[in-house]
Amino acid sequence: MQLKWSRSSIPAQGRHPWVVSLGLALALSTLGNVPFWWALSQLPEINSLRAYAGLIGIWAALTLLLWVFVNVVIWPWWRKPVGVVLLVMSMTASYFMVMYGVVIDPTMVANAMQTNTAEVRDLLSLTLLLTLVIGVGVPSLWWWRLEPRTGLGWRRWTHQLGAVALGSVLAFMLLLLVFQDLASLMRNHTNLRYMVNPFNTVYAVGRLAKSEQAQRQQPLQPIGDDASARLPNAKAPPVLVLVVGETARAANFGIAGYPRATTPQLQALQARGDLYYFSQVQSCGTNTQVSVPCMFSHQNRNTRTDSAGNYESLLDVLYKAGWAVLWLDNQSGCKGVCDRVAHFDTSRLKHPFLCEAGECWDEIMLDGLSERLALLIPERRARGTVVVMHQMGSHGPAYYKRSPPNQKKFLPECTSNALSSCEKQALINAYDNSIAYTDHFLGQVVQWLQTQHQPTALWYVSDHGESLGENGIYLHGMPYKMAPKEQTHVPMALWVSQSMRQRWALDDACLRTQQGKPWSHDNLFHTLLGSADVKTGLYQPELDMTRACRAYK
Ligand SMILES: [Zn+2]
Repeated sequence: MQLKWSRSSIPAQGRHPWVVSLGLALALSTLGNVPFWWALSQLPEINSLRAYAGLIGIWAALTLLLWVFVNVVIWPWWRKPVGVVLLVMSMTASYFMVMYGVVIDPTMVANAMQTNTAEVRDLLSLTLLLTLVIGVGVPSLWWWRLEPRTGLGWRRWTHQLGAVALGSVLAFMLLLLVFQDLASLMRNHTNLRYMVNPFNTVYAVGRLAKSEQAQRQQPLQPIGDDASARLPNAKAPPVLVLVVGETARAANFGIAGYPRATTPQLQALQARGDLYYFSQVQSCGTNTQVSVPCMFSHQNRNTRTDSAGNYESLLDVLYKAGWAVLWLDNQSGCKGVCDRVAHFDTSRLKHPFLCEAGECWDEIMLDGLSERLALLIPERRARGTVVVMHQMGSHGPAYYKRSPPNQKKFLPECTSNALSSCEKQALINAYDNSIAYTDHFLGQVVQWLQTQHQPTALWYVSDHGESLGENGIYLHGMPYKMAPKEQTHVPMALWVSQSMRQRWALDDACLRTQQGKPWSHDNLFHTLLGSADVKTGLYQPELDMTRACRAYK
């Protein structure tokens, strides 16, 4: 047994625990919150001596609140790792806020947790590494080497609880002083509340855990048990393809008036009179995690909440109506909507031309498609087939990876993941190439459909849009209420074959008038049920975009 203590472990040595915890609180409130202070200092309201004094008050109050927080969560036996975790959380969040103009809210954290290795690889960069080494490494080393006087038993308790009490009282008094200014700032600039590190992340994780628990406690509820479909012509059952786009914003679609030729294929189909482009479509969410389940839900955007129930999807209803259903995924999965129908992941396939570096371009979903369809139940195929293709689309920030090297129309391209360090035009070039590739892909899908000698139709709609540096904002995932229109205005199109046109008894002029109306993802559920001739009590004809234009109802 060792009786002699080494110098560093003598409890009476070292710094006072208040000094140590205040040091960490200061590091978090200043270094860990650079984007928050930068955003505050840029506000038009910050224009007087009083406003600057208010900023200092906010800074002091935040430091005190962090001091309280640190004393609540950090206890001697896990002091070092928890301090490092807080520093890592704050600095990483700061990095993404600065580089991409994002804020940290529950859906952003949900997205981060559901990410896959390819997405992480897309985000990694030298800039991130340098930021983490300097911003996290240096303060963490400092924190790791600090040795507070721990004290024993009751003394430790009095130190920590004393800090919590004193910090709370002082922070409360300071907040009272700056309350008026602070309240109006937070009201006018809601994004600020998602920018305070590390409270934003702690809050988001808590909210998310709560809502996931609520979800888990809700059993999956069946919908559309009454669904049935019109009896088809057995010789030529219909085939519907729904392409779920990724990160495509309407603003960069040539067919929507964007001055660059990003959508020549869609425009050629439109010129032939076979394609309808819907120009005013709003997404349900600003990220995949929210949008995809919402697109396939019978609930609308406003009624979907954590407590609104856990329901089956549109695909379950189509299946119950007798259709053969196949989900092809070239991205991060179907977020639960395809769990009970046939699904196949194409993103990790090996192909000499269509795949590279562990990822595949979207055309991979057409490769061997007929063979995959042949595996579906023949009795269902005889009634009709719905194929959903979930694209990789324009998934960022590595837009340049979303189009094959031999199909780059717009050069030079930004090939960095640190988007804000790229030339604006090079970034737009890379993004536009991804849209042009989606256009090419949609053209290929139509070509495939034309070889089927069956009534066929293609629906295309993107899950959400994207910010490309407008007002310093990049990527997507902004809380919906404050999201810029670039993230919520999505492209949507319908291509119809001649035989499907006859089957639906489609009124062309009528459908043309539907193109400019305001629609949203809420319409997709009912429009697809209508397109598939499914009868169910769930179907709301007034939400079906083509109902008024189909003579067969
Ligand atoms: Zn998405």
